[in-house]
Amino acid sequence: MNPSMRRIGRSEALIARAQQRLPAGVNSPVRAFRAVGGVPLFIREGRGAVITDVDGNRYIDYVCSWGPLILGHAHPAVVAAVQQAAARGTTYGAPHEGEILLAERVAERMPAMQMMRFVSSGTEATMSALRLARGVTGRSKIVKFDGCYHGHADALLARAGSGVATFGLPDSAGVPSEMTAHTLVAPHNDLEAVRRIFETSGEQIAAIIVEPVAGNMGVVPPAPGFLEGLREIATAHGALLIFDEVITGFRVGPGGATERYGVTPDLICIGKIVGGGLPAAAYGGRRDLMEHVAPLGPVYQAGTLSGNPLAMAAGLATLDQLTPAAYDRLEERSAALERGLLDAARSVGVPMQLNRVGSMLSFFFTDRPVTNTAIAATADRARYARLFHGLLDRGVYLAPSALEAAFVSTEHSEEQIAATVEAFGAALADAVRAEGG
Ligand code: PMP
Repeated sequence: MNPSMRRIGRSEALIARAQQRLPAGVNSPVRAFRAVGGVPLFIREGRGAVITDVDGNRYIDYVCSWGPLILGHAHPAVVAAVQQAAARGTTYGAPHEGEILLAERVAERMPAMQMMRFVSSGTEATMSALRLARGVTGRSKIVKFDGCYHGHADALLARAGSGVATFGLPDSAGVPSEMTAHTLVAPHNDLEAVRRIFETSGEQIAAIIVEPVAGNMGVVPPAPGFLEGLREIATAHGALLIFDEVITGFRVGPGGATERYGVTPDLICIGKIVGGGLPAAAYGGRRDLMEHVAPLGPVYQAGTLSGNPLAMAAGLATLDQLTPAAYDRLEERSAALERGLLDAARSVGVPMQLNRVGSMLSFFFTDRPVTNTAIAATADRARYARLFHGLLDRGVYLAPSALEAAFVSTEHSEEQIAATVEAFGAALADAVRAEGG
């Protein structure tokens, strides 16, 4: 596309109107484009790997609604399942068979999810899993990792000071420090730091919660032995290990990161793909633990729309499409994208790291391998912002923030991957030229 041809007048008008009623015009902060500047695009429709904005511009989409759309937009099987479910009523607030079907399907793929409870967002899943861990162990403290995002529950809105593990300080106004006083934060991929925390506080720690493949500092795979080490430490101290697989569940393989890395946590949180693009998430794991959840046990947790029939239908339809062949295709397309982007950066002469696990990947403009959030933060984000806009002009939609994952769907074709690589090379060359001038 000729960059000068792109019109954004309708998105501009809509964001101005939206700002009158919605903070920054959006319902989730990153959508406001503050990290890259410019006008957030209002999307009119999505189909396969392509989204179309209200001005009629088309983009190959690598946000995919931040992960749920592993089948791309408006997959016919998902649309049909949702339509059929909707015709039978959109919510009952009572049990229905769809919940069992989806739970059974999840357990087939993730045997560690012996029993689960459906909720409506990843935030609810992690918040509830922590309540359960505390309820079961009778302990208060939790360990999380710097740069891992687990949703916006108060206790989890804490990261680290630098270097050594610290008591978490709240990241957000409105979170009293008491709410994060029990949150201990360790540098990601640093087992020694975790060991030190357990040496001093082991008996008070209910759980370790981790993104087994980090996706919220850009994509950062677990260091060799990291997940195994967490498992050992948790077991040795009677704490629970919780994998937050809200992104990785069904993404990095049929059984998520749990299967891919062969480490079994006590509890798992899933979201995104399990709802097939509708609001659903779940927490689950060992049956003896889940039996503490109300009304079987004393750990209270509930939800008006939990197990929503439309979301269950969409999740089920999505998992049905995720065959071994679908994962092979995802891997092949994602690997081609990885190779293409690395080659393009090399030919422009730009140092770039690319981390990929299956169909989630991130690139960082730095010459250091990115193994944690501190290193990720050293990447050149201004360059990312310029590249981002250059790619929009060429019909490619990346996340409007440097430290996010790009997601490939089963619907991204070889041609679209090739077009993306070409656009990337041209946009990166432009971005670098702009820096020189
Ligand atoms: N955990 C992880 C790993 C996430 O990436 C997210 C959201 N991106 C959440 C939890 C929270 O999920 P939700 O936005 O559905 O509340």
